[in-house]
Amino acid sequence: MTRSTKLLDRRDVLKIGAGAGVLGASAHFGIAARPAFAADFEQAPGFFRFALGEMTVTIVSDGHLEIPASVVASNIGVDELRSYLSARFLDTDINYGHTNHVLIETGEDLVLVDVGSGERFQPTAGKLVENLDLAGYAPEDVTKVVLTHAHPDHVWGMLDEFEDDLRFPEAEHIVGAAEFDWWMAADRVASLPDDLKPFAVGAQKSFEPIADRLVKATDGLDVAPGCRLIATPGHTPGHMSLIVESGDQTMLVAGDAINHGYVAFEHPDWRPAFDFDKDLAVATRKRLLEMCASDRMLISAYHLPFPGVGHAARAGQAYRYMPALWRW
Ligand SMILES: [Zn+2]
Repeated sequence: MTRSTKLLDRRDVLKIGAGAGVLGASAHFGIAARPAFAADFEQAPGFFRFALGEMTVTIVSDGHLEIPASVVASNIGVDELRSYLSARFLDTDINYGHTNHVLIETGEDLVLVDVGSGERFQPTAGKLVENLDLAGYAPEDVTKVVLTHAHPDHVWGMLDEFEDDLRFPEAEHIVGAAEFDWWMAADRVASLPDDLKPFAVGAQKSFEPIADRLVKATDGLDVAPGCRLIATPGHTPGHMSLIVESGDQTMLVAGDAINHGYVAFEHPDWRPAFDFDKDLAVATRKRLLEMCASDRMLISAYHLPFPGVGHAARAGQAYRYMPALWRW
């Protein structure tokens, strides 16, 4: 597929992953030897629905992403990381990131978290609207869109395939003020290394059509009844998460502040290459995990294994991810 607006494809991503200095030691992982995308496997509809108090929550998949496994921990030796992944039966070359969009029926609003990557990023993703349809929702039904941050897989789906209409035209769009300001800075593209410039170009192309209508949020904003944004910076400068509360149940929608189903829990101080401020990302991750473990709060995070809903249980000095198991 050749598109004039295509900003980055898999080869570019793998090039980024192999880039010296930026994302670590991917070249040692033999990425170039991987076969092509297995994009043509047909899958069951990618949604999962459950009740949270009085609310109905549906996790809707945008598909999956493939990035070099080395990016999941940039401060760990190649051999140590490979043996860690292998011990968990994970691919040691490619990290398969699932994409769990949280859709919340509050009774008044239909709140969607992030808009996916659309057709612009990787051919295995861009299935959000298709899966929403299978789950019984039209894009026009969404009244609020909350953007956790402006990485490609979270905002490049802002416009539809005709590239001029908002994919969720009736929704109020909400993003962290700090996130918006950082990506939209006049010198942002120029300030980044060449291999990360497409991220800034993509963020700006996603924000520009709605810049005058975007709600720029700060910590503590109630976006809908029972849905409160909290500042969770580190992965990106203005990353936001959502706390959803109904009845006696509470769920953290962590976006990429908790970003790997094993590493983020068992080694929250390992530093994923895509974390912008790595020290701050570690502090934020630990704060969120401790909050969820203490309060027995449900966690949903974007790249956890689908449907990406579970708990953080304390395990020694760190945590263990406990996938939720419910009636089907
Ligand atoms: Zn992401």
